[in-house]
Amino acid sequence: MDWPVVGHEWAVKLLQQALATGQLSHAYLISGPPQVGKTTLARACAQALLCTAAEPPCGQCLACRKVQKGIHPDLYVVAPQTANLLIDQVRELQRQAALSPVEARHKVFILRQIEQATAPAANALLKTLEEPPAHVVLFLTLTEGEQTLPTVASRCQQITLRPLPTAQVAQALQEKWQVPPQRAELLARLSQGRLGWAVTMLTDARAWSQRTQRLDDLLTLSSQNRVERMRYAERLSRQDDAISVLQLWSSWWRDVLLLQHGCEDQVANIDRLEVLRGQAGRYDEQQARAFLEALTSTGRYLEQNANAQLALEVLLLRLPRPAAPQGESNLSR
Ligand SMILES: [Zn+2]
Repeated sequence: MDWPVVGHEWAVKLLQQALATGQLSHAYLISGPPQVGKTTLARACAQALLCTAAEPPCGQCLACRKVQKGIHPDLYVVAPQTANLLIDQVRELQRQAALSPVEARHKVFILRQIEQATAPAANALLKTLEEPPAHVVLFLTLTEGEQTLPTVASRCQQITLRPLPTAQVAQALQEKWQVPPQRAELLARLSQGRLGWAVTMLTDARAWSQRTQRLDDLLTLSSQNRVERMRYAERLSRQDDAISVLQLWSSWWRDVLLLQHGCEDQVANIDRLEVLRGQAGRYDEQQARAFLEALTSTGRYLEQNANAQLALEVLLLRLPRPAAPQGESNLSR
């Protein structure tokens, strides 16, 4: 059976060959953008390791089905608790790693978002990476742009995942999730090559309505005054999704720029094409470009834990006001 992974063909091949030749590393560090498929790849490799059929992963045997349900006793998925990967979680991992596998010949540990590990947790993990028990295979995932201890990274084989082509995401959504073509195309373009993001949007109605709300906010803000913008910045600074709001707004302003350059086929937010066309006419290219740059640099400040409220205030004060639509002057209003 093919691995249950969409795309990332080279990475799948690399792991398949390592498995086939018995040269699997004891630790892999899989990095890439959020929701691009890092944990999915690790889970697929775990399934191949734990499957009991002649040509793993078969997808049929008891072990495969347990992996798919997330109940295999030799597969541990550890995610950060309360935003941090804590030393207690690493200690528990070490306790489990020292024990023999329950059903399989291996024990597989997937540690998600290793960038969230506290310094003591990362240092404790180092010990396991240096002298892992023979039956243990570890997969650490690292979000693109984030960092872990160099000593942790250097003890792992590194796999860097890139965004998938839009067409591949759209095709997967249609074939594996039975999404109608038009919606699949929209989600694929919005996902920026991150299939996991698109699937979240399919299943999480709240996430989708938040996108709608945040885009509406952006349009409203552009005609609001200083006080209202400052108030919004203050509210946004207290949300933990501020960075993803900025990414959403960046996708919007990129679309405005694309339309100004006549590249309509590359627009991401195609469900709002009419509004975007109007925006493209109401701003000049200079304004669009400058605000897009401001969004990018503000995102970087927030990642560095700068004063979020101040950074967002400065950003929102720079949001340009739209010119009146063509053919409409102030006198005629
Ligand atoms: Zn199997």
